[in-house]
Amino acid sequence: MKLSKLEAALVEELARLEIIDCHEHLPPEKTRVAAQVDVFTLFSHYTRHDLAVAGMSEVQYQGLYNRDIPLGRRWAIFEPFWERIRWASYARAALLAAKRFYGADDINAQTAEAISEAMQKANTPGIYEQVLREACNIRTALTQCGSTDLGGTPLLTPVMPMVHELEAWQALSRPPFEPSTSLGPGPAAAVRSLDDYLDAVRRYVARVKAEGAVGLKMMSNPYKDPRRDEASSAFESLRSGAVARLPVPNPLRDYVVDQTIAIATELDMVVCVHTGYWGDFRTLDPLHMIPLLQRHPRARFDIYHVGYPWMREALMLGKGFANVWLNFCWTHIISQKFAMDALDEAIDLVPMNKLLAFGGDYATPVEKVYGHLVMAREDIARVLARRIEDGQMTDTQALALARKWFVENPVALYRLEP
Ligand SMILES: [Zn+2]
Repeated sequence: MKLSKLEAALVEELARLEIIDCHEHLPPEKTRVAAQVDVFTLFSHYTRHDLAVAGMSEVQYQGLYNRDIPLGRRWAIFEPFWERIRWASYARAALLAAKRFYGADDINAQTAEAISEAMQKANTPGIYEQVLREACNIRTALTQCGSTDLGGTPLLTPVMPMVHELEAWQALSRPPFEPSTSLGPGPAAAVRSLDDYLDAVRRYVARVKAEGAVGLKMMSNPYKDPRRDEASSAFESLRSGAVARLPVPNPLRDYVVDQTIAIATELDMVVCVHTGYWGDFRTLDPLHMIPLLQRHPRARFDIYHVGYPWMREALMLGKGFANVWLNFCWTHIISQKFAMDALDEAIDLVPMNKLLAFGGDYATPVEKVYGHLVMAREDIARVLARRIEDGQMTDTQALALARKWFVENPVALYRLEP
């Protein structure tokens, strides 16, 4: 992005901030270091969806990661699809990462081999320190990889799935109703009643909190009002084997999710909510959250992704509910245009203690966190620069806002060390 002088100066100031990365799926570093990597690792995450939509078959996609096939041949398969997707925001994060870490001005037939070699050389212990700390100036990244065992580094802070989305739910959906051992310490207790199930959920939440988790993640699916009697009979129909699985949605899920939010609130944990875009996103409208927001006024809801494509609906959650924060994680690589529009409108609408600026939302390709962050800084600088030029705020005031969004708000919301 070509930046104006003011935008460039703001970007420079933003790069000096030590920030909180408000959402990742990064595994422990040892998992990344153990993985085979090459240039296609940079295309192993969201770009995968763009490649599929551009016409790449699943077999072709899987072939990219078959390291028995020479790189040149894999590149020849990849290249026509890459030319179709290279202008999208997802691709830009890969291009920025390849340039910053592997010295490549472009990802193409001429550079693919050299990027791969450089990536393999760099894939050693310390890569998280190098990417997250040194290149990104990240203090800690809130990461969801299904585990609280992140290798003991302060660079990663766990957020865990709500238990209904974890094995317990699947275990419950199948006889003999033994909860997964990951639910609680000590020997697994049989789940014979709805109360046993809720006890298991409570033990799970307490355990992951004790292990350092600061939030529980759920999806903004449609939930009906929780009814204990209906949840109980749904549980009983599973337990007795009358049905093998419950349809989705169902009253047991609605009740357990509601109870889990209450438990998270009691234990002072954040409820993280994926809203919008993913698969059949009709089931992920941010407005589905309103009954839960109303029923749990003391809970703290971190609304992810600004609900794309329901940006205004998500902004209105931030406008109308004291228990809502709006998290711009993932947004800058969905579309920089959207992220800038949403941020600009959010400044008009929402109190400034309620915005979180950034979450890379990556797993294996940690380098792309940097690419995403560069894009986020550009978006934020452009929005703030326009307000400064319009005479609405001074440089100092603009930077104070950015500091809130990048650091102070996530620290306050997640009760992180100041
Ligand atoms: Zn995510």
